[in-house]
Amino acid sequence: MITVTDLVKEYRTKRRFVRALDGVSLTVPQGTIHGIIGHSGAGKSTLVRCLAMLDRPTSGSIVIQDQDLTKATDANLRRARRRIGLVFQHANLFDSRTVVSNVAYPLEIAGEPKAQRMERARELLSLVGLSDAAEVYPSQLSGGMRQRVGIARALAVDPDVLLFDEPTSALDPRTTDEILELILKLRRPDLATIVITHEMHVVKKICDSVSLLEHGSIVESGPLTEVVSRL
Ligand code: ADP
Ligand code: ADP
Repeated sequence: MITVTDLVKEYRTKRRFVRALDGVSLTVPQGTIHGIIGHSGAGKSTLVRCLAMLDRPTSGSIVIQDQDLTKATDANLRRARRRIGLVFQHANLFDSRTVVSNVAYPLEIAGEPKAQRMERARELLSLVGLSDAAEVYPSQLSGGMRQRVGIARALAVDPDVLLFDEPTSALDPRTTDEILELILKLRRPDLATIVITHEMHVVKKICDSVSLLEHGSIVESGPLTEVVSRL
């Protein structure tokens, strides 16, 4: 379970002060898929960066199975980050590495021996339907296939939380459906999934629960059908 409490993120520059997240709280149990939907400027990217520990929140906590990630020291940050698998909008693969080596990369960083990390990477490629593409380079793949590689890479370290940042907004409708089917297929009792998107049809298709983010605050939250009926 991931529990976010009163998350605040402020940006201060010489001429501006922005409170991009203004006390965001949410809980996502293992085995469920939670959507966070909001318009441009609502704070989605900021929330992704804070949840993925790419940026420190100004205040508030992010607790995953009793560990408060915001309390991780810089030395522990890498290990804390491994509890959350991040899937980017544009996959963000290394073009100079083969597909299987991209998927194995987080395990390489974690110091896993080569034979083991390659075996795990191949297993994950099979899970996302890309066994045949293991040895090719990302530039040879379609956008949807690259996104599958990004998903396999995010799962490599066995995260407790899988976090999707606009996973389908760069894809055509058919490929979008395939990726959404895959997200549903990856649902497991020990994995909490969070999908951040500006697309309501994505939320309607795969989410159990949803939060509506506006001006850095969650203004609606609950089971999918309840929230949709209130909108
Ligand atoms: P979204 O992803 O929903 O479009 P963002 O998280 O990018 O929203 O932005 C939320 C608010 O925070 C906006 O007002 C934006 O201008 C501001 N913001 C985002 N990043 C920065 C930054 N690095 N410095 C200053 N302001 C920022
Ligand atoms: P399938 O039935 O489609 O072959 P499995 O559930 O048997 O998929 O999983 C195949 C491999 O992928 C196993 O090693 C399993 O641990 C791993 N796996 C499956 N789903 C996930 C997931 N959501 N996160 C991490 N690993 C997963």
